[in-house]
Amino acid sequence: TEPDACHLPEHQVSTPLSAIDARVAEAQRTFQTGRTKPLAWRRDQLKALLRLLEECAGEVHTAMDADLGKNDVESHLTEVLAVKSEIKDTIKHLERWTRGQRVSVPFLVGTARADVQRQPLGTVLIIGPWNYPFHLLLMPLIGALAAGNSVVLKPSELAPAVSRTVARLIPEYLDPEAVQVIEGGVEETTRLLEHRFDHIFYTGNGTVGSIVMTAAAKHLTPVTLELGGKSPVWVDPSADLTQAAESLVWGKFSNSGQTCVAPDYVLTTPDLAEPLAAEIARVTTRAFGTSPRTATNYGRIISERHTERLAGLLGSGVPVMGGTADIPARYVAPTVLLDVAPDSAIMQEEIFGPILPILTVADHREAIAFINARPKPLALYAFTEHQEVRDDFLEQTSSGGITFNTVMTQLAVSTLPFGGVGASGMGRYHGEYSVETFSHERAVLRKLPGFDPTRLAKAPISRGMRRFL
Ligand code: NAD
Repeated sequence: TEPDACHLPEHQVSTPLSAIDARVAEAQRTFQTGRTKPLAWRRDQLKALLRLLEECAGEVHTAMDADLGKNDVESHLTEVLAVKSEIKDTIKHLERWTRGQRVSVPFLVGTARADVQRQPLGTVLIIGPWNYPFHLLLMPLIGALAAGNSVVLKPSELAPAVSRTVARLIPEYLDPEAVQVIEGGVEETTRLLEHRFDHIFYTGNGTVGSIVMTAAAKHLTPVTLELGGKSPVWVDPSADLTQAAESLVWGKFSNSGQTCVAPDYVLTTPDLAEPLAAEIARVTTRAFGTSPRTATNYGRIISERHTERLAGLLGSGVPVMGGTADIPARYVAPTVLLDVAPDSAIMQEEIFGPILPILTVADHREAIAFINARPKPLALYAFTEHQEVRDDFLEQTSSGGITFNTVMTQLAVSTLPFGGVGASGMGRYHGEYSVETFSHERAVLRKLPGFDPTRLAKAPISRGMRRFL
């Protein structure tokens, strides 16, 4: 018998498979009507999304608390404000970012005009993760709408309260035919991926990224893959230890370390490891008190399975702070580990939790060699006052982005592209880069009356001319 819908486990929120095909078809049909192309439609949709955030922020916070134990302030800053600011910025620059651009024409082409036209791609699929479930689903949506596409959104089933909130609010505020929401997990996403989209924008882990790219390849659909990885931190003897500790505590322990650009591990010199750990412990107590478990600003791990995985990593070093977990409560204490071996379990996978291993190397050159021996990270952080050290990192390493003397704030600079390289992903977005990602840049050439060198090429070649060839 069918289980009672009220008693379904939370993660079973899903769109019936039979409805998925119809919703994708509706989004595609809507694009074909041309309705999503005028700037007025795009602007209206962006304004409606802004209204949703203004009128329903309370509901978003409640959902965020249910899924991740996020408090209102953190949820407001990282989920609501960040998205609102991107919408306002996009509305402000909509005309300039979507307008074609005239480019120069080489002399040999003669009198002509060349333009780059930005066209919407069509119907795009956006697949979101659970860690910033609202932000990471809506940020790409802004670019997709601004570029004039119709959209299919797939929130993460691992953040069921946010998924349900999105599925209810989006059709209420946005054009419900042009923006479709499909809820569900592997089965529903697999069904979605059978369809031919004009672009797929995926945020999540690399294993699923590869599944998405394989499915997209069948239709020659381009993809943007926003993946993760182990983002390293170098702390130099010249660094301000308090500034480094404050950044690390914020980056590693907000959202319980479940942030794609969270500092994953620290490399520092042997004499700095203990003072840095002590400073981190001091700042942590200041931020979360002596009992982080009861602190209202300290969150929870997304699921028991992930808590269990993190608990298994606690033995990879000696805890100088924290080191405990409570699996049923989805709690992992803010932890710093010393004496961590490079081949220990915690160094084999992205931690994605509130555990910070500190490893030691002789100097920044050894740190660079350590980083370069591993997959290219999404973010790379260095705390240093030396220009030569900054130059060495800039010239000798590769990563999605590199940030000096702070962490994670690169995300808030929408004039910078955000995305990975190598194992941390492909493609980029934010601000105008989002509009570029969701547009096709079409080459437009118009011949004008006047000089036409192709006439020469078409003319019979005289014996005299041949001498010059
Ligand atoms: P997740 O488990 O929510 O998965 C992401 C999406 O993939 C979900 O919508 C899910 O339904 C779908 N999915 C899962 N299995 C699938 C399958 N077999 N076939 C098709 N779709 C499937 O999130 P996650 O992957 O655990 O997210 C954490 C990872 O994402 C980390 O590695 C993190 O670094 C990375 N991340 C990257 C960014 C970024 O912007 N670059 C942001 C956040 C997270």
